[in-house]
This record gives sequence, C-alpha cells and structure tokens, in this order.
Amino acid sequence: MKVTDHIRNADKTLFSIEILPPLKGSNIKSIYDLIDPLMEFNPPFVDVTYHREEYVYKKREGGYLEKISIRKRPGTVSICAAIINKYKTDAVPHIICGGFTREETENALIELNYLGIDNVLLLRGDPIKTEPHFTPEPGGNNYAIDLVKQVVDMNKGKFLDEDLKESVPSDFCIGIAGYPEKHFEAPNMSTDIRYLKMKVDAGAEYIVTQMFFDNSRFFQFVKDCKDAGIDVPIIPGLKPITTLRQSTLLPKTFHIDLPSDLTKELEKCQDNAAACEVGIEWCIQQSKELMDSGVPCLHYYTMSNSSPVRRIAEKVF
Ligand code: FAD
Repeated sequence: MKVTDHIRNADKTLFSIEILPPLKGSNIKSIYDLIDPLMEFNPPFVDVTYHREEYVYKKREGGYLEKISIRKRPGTVSICAAIINKYKTDAVPHIICGGFTREETENALIELNYLGIDNVLLLRGDPIKTEPHFTPEPGGNNYAIDLVKQVVDMNKGKFLDEDLKESVPSDFCIGIAGYPEKHFEAPNMSTDIRYLKMKVDAGAEYIVTQMFFDNSRFFQFVKDCKDAGIDVPIIPGLKPITTLRQSTLLPKTFHIDLPSDLTKELEKCQDNAAACEVGIEWCIQQSKELMDSGVPCLHYYTMSNSSPVRRIAEKVF
C-alpha cells in the first residue's frame, strides 16, 4: 500500500522508522533485531536508506596508496523485500541520483516494480566525501526533481526507450526530502521552498523532513510550505540524541541547530548514558507536541539503534 494511502486511512498519528542497511559483513538478522522491538507500534512503512560508494586509500606494499571505491552498506532493495516478506508491512527504498545513469535508475525501478515495492523516497544524494560539490553521473539525474520526473514518466508507462510501445505503467508513490532549517546549499529558505514546490508540482506526493530539535522551526516550515502552495503531507523526521558527541556531530553533519535549552542539559551530562536520557526525554516532548499539532506521522531515524526509539514510542503511542 502507498504511504499516502496509509496517511489518508489513518485516524491517528502514525509511527514510522528509517533504518540503515548493515555494514558489509553483517547479515539480515541485524536488521530483524533492530526492527523486532518496534513492530509492536505498527509502523505501516519502514524507510531503508541508500549509501553510495566511497573512496578510501589502502596502503600497499612499498608504501604506495591505492585509491579504491567501496560500498559500506549495500543491500537497500533486498532489505526492503525482506521486510515486506517478514513483517507484511511496507518498505520504502531511498533512491538517489548520485552514481546512477538514468538508464541504471530505470532498471533499478523495474526491479522494485517486479518485487511489488510501490513506494520510493527520491533524493539527490550528498556529494562524495572526497568531492566539494555534487556531481551527477554522465547521463544521470542532476537534482531530485529530475528523478521525480523520471518516476512520473514511468508511472505513465513512458520509458527512456521511446520505441517501447504499450508499456505497462508503474504505480510508485513518490516521497521527497524537505529541510525545516534549509538545505545547506540553498542560498535562503524561500529559494529552497521554491525548489521544494517544484518537486511537488512535478509529482511528489509527500515530504519527509530532515531531523530537527526545535519544533518551532518545523511549524514555521509547514506554514511557509502552505503559503507557497505546497499541500502534500509533511512528515517530521526525529532523532533522539544518544551520545555526548552527537551534540557537535549532528549539527556538522546535517546542518541543523540544537536549541540552547537542549545543549545546556547535555553539558551537564557526565557520560553517554546520561546524554541518552536527555535525548530521549527531549524527543518524547517533541513528539508529543508534534502529535498534538496533528502531524500525519512521526518518523524516527533509528541509526541502527532501536532501543531509544522504543522507549520514546512507549511514551508517545
Ligand atoms: P534536491 O531537492 O535536488 O536539492 C538539492 C539542493 O539543490 C538544494 O539546495 C535545493 O534548494 C537545490 N535545488 C533543487 N532543485 C534545484 C534546481 N532545479 N535548480 C537549482 N537548484 C535546485 N542521502 C543519501 O545518500 N541516501 C539516503 O538514503 C538519504 N536519505 C535521506 C532522507 C531524508 C528524509 C533526508 C532529509 C535526506 C536524505 N539524504 C540521503 C540526504 C540527501 O540526499 C541530501 O540532503 C542531498 O544533499 C539533497 O537531497 P535532496 O533530494 O533534498 O536534493
């Protein structure tokens, strides 16, 4: 079932999660161990992130460094299939522009279609860590909107090969990303929202936000989106802080602010266990306020650790 149908049919705020494929060398059991404790809260869909290749330098004999490309967390599509099969819930693979030609993207979408996966979250992807800017693959999509247009075309039965006649249309429900504190490359919020509106006009059906720790930023974002004519569901993304280091790492990685009330509490913590308690309590309060405001769904970033999310869900759902 489509994410938008889950939202339409719900009479209360839904609970959903995002998971990461395990590091290469692990197995599917680590995914089940992560999801099992959260199934009691009935997530109607589980998002699975996509991780493109990274470049690393390996020291070889004679001291020379070899640059090699590795994918540390492969398996997005097969994990989605395994989740659907085991839990009879929907799974949403993240599909990115980076690293794919349009034809490779089309073939990946065909695989999803054959597997009965009818939800996708479409993203541009970040620049490769060793590169200053995002560079699309030659023949690949440049922005998430180009990916949205490609999937919309497939939903109309239009494939890249225009000689294909009477092709069966796909029926993907399209989600996209939104940023309550602005995407880091956007010159300002209004430009970012203008591009967000273009993605919705192109066919995106719902928005999942970047994590945020100050609900007022989310409420303002929702208002700005409405004022700009964006009328699709906006799902807030939430992440409980679980370590002391995250108070500096999350702002740096995700280009977000932590409210000073939160950082003051974290500064009092002696260790990660204490920081995790602060993070969980903060996220519970955020969740309750968002739920009271009538958000369609609360979407939790598990980051391979489900126990803090479980403690939050016990208090909120
Ligand atoms: P876009 O919508 O393409 O926007 C990128 C930038 O370009 C923005 O600054 C925007 O304002 C601007 N822009 C947009 N359209 C245009 C245009 N037509 N012309 C000029 N400028 C434009 N990354 C992964 O690699 N894997 C994942 O699984 C993943 N999951 C994510 C899930 C969520 C909920 C979120 C919020 C992010 C996720 N990301 C993931 C990170 C994401 O790929 C990065 O934030 C990326 O830098 C931007 O992706 P986007 O889809 O928002 O890009």
